Amino acid sequence: MVLYLYNTLTRRKEKFEPLNPPMVGMYVCGPTVYGDPHLGHARPAITFDILYRYLQHLGYKVRYVRNITDVGHLEHDADDGEDKIAKKARLEQVEPMEVAQYYTNRYHKAMEALNVLPPSIEPHASGHIIEQEELVKQILNNGYAYESEGSVYFDVEKYNKDHHYGILSNRNLDDVINASRELDGVGEKRNQVDFALWKKAQPEHIMRWPSPWSDGFPGWHCECTAMGRKYLGEEFDIHGGGMDLVFPHHECEIAQAVASQGKQMVRYWMHNNMLTINGQKMGKSLGNFITLEQFFTGNHEALEQAYAPMVIRFFILQAHYRSTVDFSNEALQSAQKGLERLLDGIANIERIKVSPETDAATAEMVRTLKEKCYDAMNDDLNTQIVISLLFDACRTINSLCDGKGTIADADLAELRDTMTTFAFDILGLRAKSGNDGQSESREEAFGKAVDMLLELRAKAKVDKDWATSDRIRDALASFGFEVKDTKDGATWKLGI
Ligand code: ZN
Repeated sequence: MVLYLYNTLTRRKEKFEPLNPPMVGMYVCGPTVYGDPHLGHARPAITFDILYRYLQHLGYKVRYVRNITDVGHLEHDADDGEDKIAKKARLEQVEPMEVAQYYTNRYHKAMEALNVLPPSIEPHASGHIIEQEELVKQILNNGYAYESEGSVYFDVEKYNKDHHYGILSNRNLDDVINASRELDGVGEKRNQVDFALWKKAQPEHIMRWPSPWSDGFPGWHCECTAMGRKYLGEEFDIHGGGMDLVFPHHECEIAQAVASQGKQMVRYWMHNNMLTINGQKMGKSLGNFITLEQFFTGNHEALEQAYAPMVIRFFILQAHYRSTVDFSNEALQSAQKGLERLLDGIANIERIKVSPETDAATAEMVRTLKEKCYDAMNDDLNTQIVISLLFDACRTINSLCDGKGTIADADLAELRDTMTTFAFDILGLRAKSGNDGQSESREEAFGKAVDMLLELRAKAKVDKDWATSDRIRDALASFGFEVKDTKDGATWKLGI
């Protein structure tokens, strides 16, 4: 089985061959922690969660590093403006690290809700100032940077004479210079296109560290080069992030790596495409900025209802990671229906009655399903195709439940294995909880607690204690449980 991944650097799909199998080193740019996590955080996290899960499924031992940017990311993504975290701290009158911690916690909570696995290492930029200063020193020693007024800048023109600046974003230096012409004067820089490796802190700037050049802070691009190298080595396999990071962030990372160690650090560069809301880019000024928590609770005027984290995850996975995704209430509602159909289909496997033999059409479906799912994943993680294959299989499952067609024990086991492996282990979807025999129990203790409440309710009904019985029913409904009375008692289900 061969995995092909699209490499942004070579602009084609390439066979994935790790440098030191079975080890795989993977670095993904994490969040700048100064605001609530939103959709823009969900897509790269989910995209690279799929890659992380799939590589592990294939037997690789993956060291997955995803950083937390808590210093040096200035407002204009370039070299000026206030530090994003320091600004928030100033406005809220708290310590910058309180801001970083608060939003890091919020980010973790949202990622857990989306069933995004935590990385192996989550380094903070502010905890790696020494490594970043070391990087700056190497680049200075190699002659690709210069000091100016206590700051250090990368000398893009000099670098471009020896190497190609723009190799990742497929542009040449003239394009970059033309694109940046409108900005104001060069100030301390020799050239507008030069970027900061170290910035001298202004007196009012609170996040500052001593260095040979000034009391200051590292440029934003330094952290990923320094921390990637520290934890994954001078050369490692995969570096990922959103497409918006290709330029300047990842372009600068490549330049820093080559300027400091004479060779590139990363073998495969991977980027997920962006998402829009109702066809527009998400932005605070457009009034369509929706946080993940607002999606989960429905608490935003643009939302017609709450959307469960699994609906968001499923919706993102319905598109290939290199295509754009457009969020709308309509699209999310149809994703919700699709997810219900898929999870119910998988749960229905348990209702199929086994026959001595499998009919020809079912046998063919079971035989090819797994292979087709692997083919789709191996073709640059095509989750869109995997989901459509799982839907096809659900149609067969539902027919088998209705007594149309037959399936033998071994084929049923194979079908169950394929469906759960791809839906739960690889796509990372979560089954619904419940005791209605149609869905797997995810948290037994949780289920037992609900069962006990229903027993108390049944007892209250026998005792004609209607107040208690209604109270339990209403409370469960308000928590999102669907309770159904049957002749043998009651069943419950928690909506997704
Ligand atoms: Zn980065």
